[in-house]
Amino acid sequence: MATQRIEIVIKATTQYKNYHVGQIITNRFTHQSFINALDKFEGEKQFTFKEIGFSEEGRVIKSVTFGKGKTKLLLWSQMHGNESVATRAILDILKFLTANDEFDSFRKELAQKLTIQFIPMLNPDGTNRFQRRTATEIDMNRDAIALQTPEGKLLMDIVDEFKPDFAFNLHDQRRFYNVKDTEVPSSMSFLAPAYNMGREVNSTRKKAMQLIAGMNNVLQSYIPEGVGLYDDTYGFRAFGDNIQAKGVCTILVESGWMANDMEKETIRKLNFLALLSAFQLIVDNSFTKYSIKDYAFIPAIDTKLFDVLIKNVSIGDKSEAKVDLGINRTEHALEAPSYYSVGMLEDIGNLSAHYGFETIKTKGLKAVSGKSILVNKLEELSMVSVKRLLRQGILFLITQDVPFESHVPFPINLVHPRKIQEAQAIKFDGKANFLLVDRSNVIKYIILNGFLLHPSKIDTTVNGLVVV
Ligand SMILES: [Zn+2]
Repeated sequence: MATQRIEIVIKATTQYKNYHVGQIITNRFTHQSFINALDKFEGEKQFTFKEIGFSEEGRVIKSVTFGKGKTKLLLWSQMHGNESVATRAILDILKFLTANDEFDSFRKELAQKLTIQFIPMLNPDGTNRFQRRTATEIDMNRDAIALQTPEGKLLMDIVDEFKPDFAFNLHDQRRFYNVKDTEVPSSMSFLAPAYNMGREVNSTRKKAMQLIAGMNNVLQSYIPEGVGLYDDTYGFRAFGDNIQAKGVCTILVESGWMANDMEKETIRKLNFLALLSAFQLIVDNSFTKYSIKDYAFIPAIDTKLFDVLIKNVSIGDKSEAKVDLGINRTEHALEAPSYYSVGMLEDIGNLSAHYGFETIKTKGLKAVSGKSILVNKLEELSMVSVKRLLRQGILFLITQDVPFESHVPFPINLVHPRKIQEAQAIKFDGKANFLLVDRSNVIKYIILNGFLLHPSKIDTTVNGLVVV
């Protein structure tokens, strides 16, 4: 019976496009655009909408409740403003819950047996800045005791009032998490948070472990080996740990990454699957068939992934030493949904225990500095000429006339004359701009602001930087 139910969830996920809310498809969006998408569900009879409070800067925080059942679930997302995947997945879950199709009996059962309260986007001020912290620069997930943020206080008040049986604390994790000892990104990470320093397991935490084991079982069919366990060190200031300590079975979900999914739309679909699976596992109690061992069997996560890993190269002509180069990019917020990237050479040396989203293993390569030329009239630059320059190994345009502030919206760097030597250096913790050449000095790869470009196929959507 339980197995058949899981089949329902898996089948519903194969029809995910019917439930995907296409209004928001990027990591970065505003509170207002989210509210516009959410409010489309307000008239639906299945839901009770409530304005539960306001953020520090007065933005409304809403909750949506589904069902009239005895077992109560509370889900909240985006307490960190730059972690938006679950907020988008909640929109998809709402759309699924209001659809009329072959899954109607499943929906009816959920509505009869469960009361599910969603609080999507708990940190609207952080969302609008695409930053982790609140408007007062407090990390809300370290405010569960002090409760100095209005948003955190709101959440704790609802936990105390609503008294959920199950709580889902929905986050995103950074890109460099892999499943330990593998090159596989941890696309979905889970944790049954500890409720004390001893990390003991009582009946509440055990249930969380069983439920996660059940969710993992379903996810494995989509991302084999791509599920990991988050570190369970007791976080005495964190919400998950404190709510678990109140006797509410609490699950931390950390949405990770996968290759070629910069806007995390595939990860969003995995969230849809994971949350719907959790509802099913709870509604028929089938999570109880999983054990603590099944949970412990999920591998730990590690932080060994680079955006680009280059193996076994020499740097310049100074040394014959062969080293590995680890490059990571960070994204910096512009007006939503835009951002620009900054790529850094984060490690040099023996990185044999590391992995890359993109890995270069070609033998006999040498990293050499990018070339530069003086330019007078930037407006004469076309994409064709940028590509031509890159193929010649020119990564830097020296100019006093810089029309951009922080970055260049195409793949080339603009450098002030006095900064050119610094910009061309290949050094630890420096910006990642250089060429990889073979023994005949033929350019095999171009590293432009941390992006790996092939001379024959230059991706013109990546950005360069302004160095002044
Ligand atoms: Zn978070």
